[in-house]
Amino acid sequence: MFALPRIYSGTFMPILLTHAAQLLTLRAPNAGEGPRRGAQMRELGIVEDGAVLIANGKIAAVGATDDVARQLPPERAGLQEIDCRGKVVLPGFVDSHTHPAFTAPRLVDFEKRIAGASYEEVAEAGGGIRSSLRGVREASTADLAQHVLHALRQMSVQGTTTVEAKSGYGLSLEAEIKSLEAIREASRQWRGTLVATLLGAHVVPPEYRGNPDEYVRLLCEELIPQVAERELATYVDVFCERGAFRPEHTQLIFRAAAGHKLGIRAHVCQLTAANLVPLLPFHPASLDHMDFVRDDDLPLLAASNTVATLLPAANYFLGLSTFPPARRLIDSGVAVALATDYNPGTAPTPSMPFVLSAACTQMKMLPAEAITAATYNGARALQLQHRKGSLQVGKDADLAIFDVEDYRELAYWFGVNRCSRTIAMGRSL
Ligand SMILES: [Zn+2]
Repeated sequence: MFALPRIYSGTFMPILLTHAAQLLTLRAPNAGEGPRRGAQMRELGIVEDGAVLIANGKIAAVGATDDVARQLPPERAGLQEIDCRGKVVLPGFVDSHTHPAFTAPRLVDFEKRIAGASYEEVAEAGGGIRSSLRGVREASTADLAQHVLHALRQMSVQGTTTVEAKSGYGLSLEAEIKSLEAIREASRQWRGTLVATLLGAHVVPPEYRGNPDEYVRLLCEELIPQVAERELATYVDVFCERGAFRPEHTQLIFRAAAGHKLGIRAHVCQLTAANLVPLLPFHPASLDHMDFVRDDDLPLLAASNTVATLLPAANYFLGLSTFPPARRLIDSGVAVALATDYNPGTAPTPSMPFVLSAACTQMKMLPAEAITAATYNGARALQLQHRKGSLQVGKDADLAIFDVEDYRELAYWFGVNRCSRTIAMGRSL
């Protein structure tokens, strides 16, 4: 029997969700703590007529409604009950790759691309990432924080409760630190969980064009130490790609990050194939995009705990006919996560349900695989699997309630928001 708090304050009022048509616990008894791979990605741990008891921001009980009800004291005054009949309840989405620290949409790029310009041609014409620099460099921290907060709220109404947020549109010591301060400020005003990442190595800024070595030195010797010292980020990310940072630069930046006890992740294989062999010894939590991953690297990835985070919304928005090779990766035993890549240039969407739709229709992931990729494996990509990504006693009470009766509908409907309620750390968002 649970001892419920006798006095229920607004913050700690226990919540009981009952009668969910399908409760997706994402429990996989034989999977262990590692990321889910292969057939494990299809195990959603579904409980029909399911219930979840939430107390003090944590999950206190999970199971069939009858079983959970039997464990409660008869006196239930102050317990908030939410009837989930006809609904699917699942762990809140973990959007493990976003770039929300920007100030304006990139509408000129949008039109240029429609007229036929490539990603690199847009950048050459002064568009692309560099065109977001001015807005961020001129913005105040408070203004930038409002933009980040606006994005977080748009994400959470569609079921997202944990977000990884990158800097990367400042690209100077001051503007990158300001971006991370804005992310921190926004996280204080949002009930979900935010993980900050320093993406100082997004592209080489105009001041260092022709001298990328000097910019990498600034990152390694000044920016990374300051960010670590002030605990402004958990991860360091690098855009390792033709026209951005070479593998040798990426290794230098990874080494500096590891030296300051920061986690490591990277954008790789988005436009061209990269050799992952020099990067994997750094144990990146995640390698993201992976459109052009080499066959030789698949067994190495499958043998590691590095998650491949796929971002199909970018392919959709760029109007590409090819998408990340999810089937090749999953069938090779590589752990796959899905994220929005929310950003002003290539993926202006806050919607994880849209990403599920794209994953199923364009990358041939099964709906169950896409849900695992967007919850448990997303948590694994942020090394938060002990707190997030599944509905188990003791984990954070992060849940999304969808107005559908079957989990496959999460990926089936698109262009409409079926999320009826999001709960983060035990409180409605
Ligand atoms: Zn990105």
